[in-house]
Amino acid sequence: MKIVFYSGRYQNEDDRKLIKRILYSKNSCSYEKCNLRRASIGCLREQCTKIFHLRCALYAGCEIIPFHRGLYCKDCIPFAIQEKKYRLCWPTSPTVRYIVNNKWKNTNHFKKIRTYIKEQSFKWDIYPDENSELMFWKYDLEARTYIREIFPGHWAFCSELASLGHRQYELVAARDIEDGEWIGEYTGMVDYRGNCGKKYTAAYYTPGSVDFNDGDLCVDGERYGNETRYINSLSPTTPLYIKKNATMATVWCAEELRIGVFATKRIKQYCAIIVDYNEYSNTYFKVDEEEDEKYKRTPYVWISTEDQLFELTKSSKESSESTQEIEHSPNRLLEISYESSNTVVYIDLT
Ligand SMILES: [Zn+2]
Ligand SMILES: [Zn+2]
Repeated sequence: MKIVFYSGRYQNEDDRKLIKRILYSKNSCSYEKCNLRRASIGCLREQCTKIFHLRCALYAGCEIIPFHRGLYCKDCIPFAIQEKKYRLCWPTSPTVRYIVNNKWKNTNHFKKIRTYIKEQSFKWDIYPDENSELMFWKYDLEARTYIREIFPGHWAFCSELASLGHRQYELVAARDIEDGEWIGEYTGMVDYRGNCGKKYTAAYYTPGSVDFNDGDLCVDGERYGNETRYINSLSPTTPLYIKKNATMATVWCAEELRIGVFATKRIKQYCAIIVDYNEYSNTYFKVDEEEDEKYKRTPYVWISTEDQLFELTKSSKESSESTQEIEHSPNRLLEISYESSNTVVYIDLT
């Protein structure tokens, strides 16, 4: 039935009519070793006339895009990558090269490491598991998100970076993303921690019995990367009403060890993707402990109206709780932060 799912259909064509058309189709498969009739899945690129059986498409090096119910043939994959880059609104920055898959150094040492990973692959979680659909064969070519520039006033905007002339961005859902769904792969240059930069480096989760010889193996997204490098993280200074909605996990996926970004709740279209890099500090982003100590996350008191949140008071170190309300504000929600227990309570004042 997958064939029915992926086959392009005419307007008002139901499954029965579609199957009938495929059965009597004279289209011969574009896979040179097949050439048989009844091929029904065409390349998504308009100018391309190639058409495949689903299985032949896999052998012929095509790539599927389940969300668009179709595939790109091998020759059109470079076009599809450019198309994705365009849909992502990839910033025209001269310093970051967009890559779909991780870059590995072409040395014997890293070739051995890749073979070793393949042998040990059963030690990581496998994605997709039997409950989830495979979302690509080798290349993830769907743009589920896009990159949006942020400006002063945005919770993640950093004035220090701005003063150095850096433009800043966030990653936004281009369509509704379901809880648990794959958002993207964190890509970059794979190397040992010592050779990676500080800011964009995520470490693979390494099971205890796996040994990479030279320490943690990481993905550095500073010079090469994809849309996931623009995901903002909670930090000790982030207002408490900003919640994370995604997480990162190392998975064995489509014959590669990948750091996947997964939704931890349903994310609506146009909402930002937010993670907490400190969540698994030793498995992905390295925590700078000194830096962390400097910004111990002090609970603030916020009051929420229909579409705005106001900071009211900064609770001091001495007081264990603080509350305040704003008059004349509709739909008031009073949030009390208990510093001692690090909990937040909301009270509806209406
Ligand atoms: Zn075929
Ligand atoms: Zn094509």
